[in-house]
Amino acid sequence: MLLNLTILPGDGIGPEVTEQAVLVLQAVADAFGHRLQLQHKNIGGAALAAVNDPLPADTIQACVASSAVLLGAVGSPAFDHNPGHLRPEAGLLRLRRELGAYANLRPAICFPALEDCSPLRVDLVRGTDIMIVRELLGGLYFGEPRSIQGAPRSRVATNTMTYDEPAIERITRIAFDLAVKRRNRVLSVDKANVLECSRLWREVVIRCAKDYPGVQLSHMYVDSAAMSLVQRPKDFDVILTENMFGDILSDQAGGVVGSLGLLASASIGGPVGLYEPVHGSAPDIAGKGIANPLGAILSAALLLRHSFRLAREAVYIESAVGAVLNQGSRTSDLVPAGQHSVSTSEMGRRVAEAVRISTSEK
Ligand code: NAD
Repeated sequence: MLLNLTILPGDGIGPEVTEQAVLVLQAVADAFGHRLQLQHKNIGGAALAAVNDPLPADTIQACVASSAVLLGAVGSPAFDHNPGHLRPEAGLLRLRRELGAYANLRPAICFPALEDCSPLRVDLVRGTDIMIVRELLGGLYFGEPRSIQGAPRSRVATNTMTYDEPAIERITRIAFDLAVKRRNRVLSVDKANVLECSRLWREVVIRCAKDYPGVQLSHMYVDSAAMSLVQRPKDFDVILTENMFGDILSDQAGGVVGSLGLLASASIGGPVGLYEPVHGSAPDIAGKGIANPLGAILSAALLLRHSFRLAREAVYIESAVGAVLNQGSRTSDLVPAGQHSVSTSEMGRRVAEAVRISTSEK
């Protein structure tokens, strides 16, 4: 199969971790006789520095013409004081919208080898395997009107949370379709005691659930869900929620399973899927060669599974990550300060090698 990808390394540690993800993709492509066709383009701060636009036209063109997009991260302190539309993050928000990627899947899995990386007790976190399904194109992050207006010292800021029924229905169906392939449970998270958006959300979710009689649906307010996520994370299967609640809960889930550097994401629903680690550009460690590339590598596995239906290849990558962790390889975010760790590139090399070894035995 031809794997026609656009690679958007982005800013900070983005280029460091995407390089490793591509290395691992190449290893699995070689083993299964697929051909990688890659185009690298700028986004975020890198694009602002080059052409003063966080999402240049040639980047969009390359993305829509490819079968999937692999992104590193965006964000750079150099542009922190730019107006909103000229910040690196604006490029990513626009890209998600251009690609029509309305469903953000964020798995949070506790790898057996990393049970002791969680701030929670091992008996609480062991066996955690959560799929967070976050609506990505609606809610507060995109709602209009939005503004800061008024005279100095009495300014008023406005954001708008808005959801329509089709937007809720399409994300609900993605969550239920995933639950059918997992443990048949969906928890819908909202704030229906306070927000009209959430009341509509709950109504539509209940209506759609009737088409999935084998899936058990439950509801929780977001504040209560946040508490339960640290009290009993392994009770969760699929969490379905809107944009901002999903943003917050998925980072929390990352904290629960150990490190943000381990978390992968897929943004799907449109014609071209976008795959990226959950973490940001981590300016504090950029350029040091110590970033954890596993979130990016696991994002590449999601890319194979969701954009190319190559589930077997995806499992080889996920198993290789598990094997490398079992052998004791750790980047610095996964060990206490001062303990031995491997570099970003060494971790990538080891995962690619583990893919080569396991696929040669297939
Ligand atoms: P961050 O995720 O970049 O970093 C948070 C902390 O986690 C830092 O201490 C960092 O060193 C650590 N960390 C993150 N990824 C890691 C990895 N792979 N390996 C080891 N440690 C890792 O979040 P932040 O500091 O809040 O944001 C930094 C910049 O990234 C900001 O400009 C922000 O807007 C941007 N951001 C971008 C995305 C994205 O591209 N999707 C997501 C979140 C934040």
